[in-house]
Amino acid sequence: MPEYNTSNFKVDTVAMRYSDFAPRLFNFCLSLGMKPNDIMPSRAFCSDENQGYPIILLAKHFGTFPFNHGRVGGVVATDRHGPHSDHGKDVVIIQASHVGYNPENKKFGVYRRLQTENHELSTDCGALCGVLDWYKEEYDFTCQQISLDREKERKVVTIDNQLLNQDRNEGMFLNMPQIVSDLNVVHSYSTAKSFIASDQLIKRIGENWPDTKTPINQFLFADLFHFKRVTDDTVASGILNRNLIKAMPEILRSHSPALTAAKVNSQVEFDRTFRTIVKEKSYRRKKVIFISGIHIDISPSAGQLFPLTKFVPWAAYIQNENGEGYTLEQHELDTALRKQSTDNPHKIDLTAAIHQMESEPEILLHVDDD
Ligand SMILES: [Zn+2]
Repeated sequence: MPEYNTSNFKVDTVAMRYSDFAPRLFNFCLSLGMKPNDIMPSRAFCSDENQGYPIILLAKHFGTFPFNHGRVGGVVATDRHGPHSDHGKDVVIIQASHVGYNPENKKFGVYRRLQTENHELSTDCGALCGVLDWYKEEYDFTCQQISLDREKERKVVTIDNQLLNQDRNEGMFLNMPQIVSDLNVVHSYSTAKSFIASDQLIKRIGENWPDTKTPINQFLFADLFHFKRVTDDTVASGILNRNLIKAMPEILRSHSPALTAAKVNSQVEFDRTFRTIVKEKSYRRKKVIFISGIHIDISPSAGQLFPLTKFVPWAAYIQNENGEGYTLEQHELDTALRKQSTDNPHKIDLTAAIHQMESEPEILLHVDDD
């Protein structure tokens, strides 16, 4: 079974302002028996500058800058559990993939960069969108390489020879049994072959089946194809490819591919990371909360320093000092967070804290000569 199910992942009904999420998460930690000043938060966020605002809010509410557990795209660096565990009595890890949102046209996947000359919009998450590009190109090309047609009374599908070659290392591959009734060639052309269409496909397209040869385009449904790609799992883009490749047909055909990709990436990262936490010896004898979700980076308008980020919770894993744990599914986690107050008397005043450090006498360094 795949580790993702994007139709289960609610967004608009569970999204909360980060300025509400951070205190609620802190109070949720206290409700589980953690003590203020004894919690080391950690974040696994993308390297994007717009992920800074959530980090500032976590620092304000937890009273410490969070440990960095994150790689590009919101991948969790699971080899950092050991050092993280050493830095706090109890620990919290927040994993989030992110996606931009333009409130002017209500579109996901872009973000206004106020530091560019003309305040341009660019892709967000850039890393996830960068991974999607190759697949999108393959998909768009393939949509033109398959045609629906009729031959006498029969409905036929004509497929480019390259797509019929199963020996390729990478590319887009067709799930032939869903597309054609059998592999008997009805007609062989110089660069393509035609087959009788499957009953299933004929039924799905129904009256929209064209009278003359027409590219398949919107009728190339997500379950009719899959991808293979050679990637390097040691680099972040390779991990993102690995996380998304099985869901890619669904991502590409979704209304907002950047949002769907962020959902899938967080679902896969939650499933993968929770298993590493269960096994991690350094987290024993500690309370651990691991929470996954997505950040919606709402594009700032002129004059706003930061995005109005929203947190969309996906799932959480909670483990006690005896190593016993349980997971909270999205609706359970959302309910648990909303029960918490947004008031946090333990929050720190970051401006005052910085002023205090500036007014402290300077410590001069003493270095012994070799
Ligand atoms: Zn990013």
